[in-house]
Amino acid sequence: MALQWLLVCHLCLTVLVVVSFLCGQWPIFEGTFVEKINYFITVGAYDYFLRISEVVCGSRGRNAILSVEHYCCQRPNPTLQIIYLGIVGVTYFFIVKSSFIYIPGYYASEVHKFTSLVAVGVGVILFVLTSFSDPGTVNSKNVTEYMSAYPYDNIIFTEKQCSTCKIPKPARSKHCSVCDRCIARFDHHCGWMNNCIGEKNTLYFMAFLIWHFFLCLYGAVVLGLILAGELEDREVIYILTVHYGIENSFSSLAPHVVQWFLGSFNTQILLMVFLAVVCLLLAGFFGYHAHLCLTNTTTNETFKWQDYISWRKKLNEAKISSAALKASISGMKGESKRPESKWKMFFRKSPLEAERVAVVKNNIYDKGVFRNLYEIVYPLSRRASFVQRKLK
Ligand SMILES: [Zn+2]
Ligand SMILES: [Zn+2]
Repeated sequence: MALQWLLVCHLCLTVLVVVSFLCGQWPIFEGTFVEKINYFITVGAYDYFLRISEVVCGSRGRNAILSVEHYCCQRPNPTLQIIYLGIVGVTYFFIVKSSFIYIPGYYASEVHKFTSLVAVGVGVILFVLTSFSDPGTVNSKNVTEYMSAYPYDNIIFTEKQCSTCKIPKPARSKHCSVCDRCIARFDHHCGWMNNCIGEKNTLYFMAFLIWHFFLCLYGAVVLGLILAGELEDREVIYILTVHYGIENSFSSLAPHVVQWFLGSFNTQILLMVFLAVVCLLLAGFFGYHAHLCLTNTTTNETFKWQDYISWRKKLNEAKISSAALKASISGMKGESKRPESKWKMFFRKSPLEAERVAVVKNNIYDKGVFRNLYEIVYPLSRRASFVQRKLK
């Protein structure tokens, strides 16, 4: 029984660490221990490690660690790509080794041996496509196409030059400091892909996310079917009720069945929980990016809009307080106006509220759900270059 409890504690701890690492900065976890664990994993632990290494090895040890960090986080490198392939390979290996002996079973048919391999293969192909495809590199040869495809909104994108590439910066583009190139419709630099996610590979990236979501779901469901089949095949319920005299009700049987599963199929249970957690995280990540695609916004633009809106709010507040100061000065000078009626005052919006309405996100690139999705499938710059070729 102690082993079962150890397994349960191990599972809870794994879920807590994974969720804290990936979602700890979400607003719902603000001020909670999940946020604290996230801080410790992402910043605190590394900070302690640096300090300890300085104490033990001196400044040379600290500098060596900093240069490794610079290589892994600031320069293009395949570390996370190798980790991704390792996770997929090891998980599939454990599933094959631990569970394929139960196929065909009562519920899981032989076909899953083949379809699981195809599903993993397609996932890896999508990973390769996203990792090695051009995300939409802007250079001196194609910059005019991008300039005509993406007009400036003069709110978050104004006409300027990239100080590194020395070419005009099309609207929605960004210079990626890791890849050292300008990317059209820049979303973010993805460490897992060792590539930027931009205009031309957002489709592959979305396909990668949704495919891996279904892949994990498929894996968890098939493992569940294998376990349910074994429960049926080995007549566990019959043995428990007839031989052990346990009452034939869900509440009486459930603890015994769970104990039997944890004792006989702990590898499958661990794999199922791992797949379910990754599946949930992928669902959240895909949902966020699907919302961005449907509204024709990028992750980069989301930050830009946040900055713009908070800047406008501050500006408005400054305007309101200067107007209030002016009014109080004129009041002191005795420039009294006819007093406003109480009814008028009641229905009139406060200046702060009126200004708040003015600060809205006016995304000129959002052209409706269908056109936004069409833009993901058939990027604007491809259309612009097609038109230019036709004109020639
Ligand atoms: Zn650039
Ligand atoms: Zn990049």
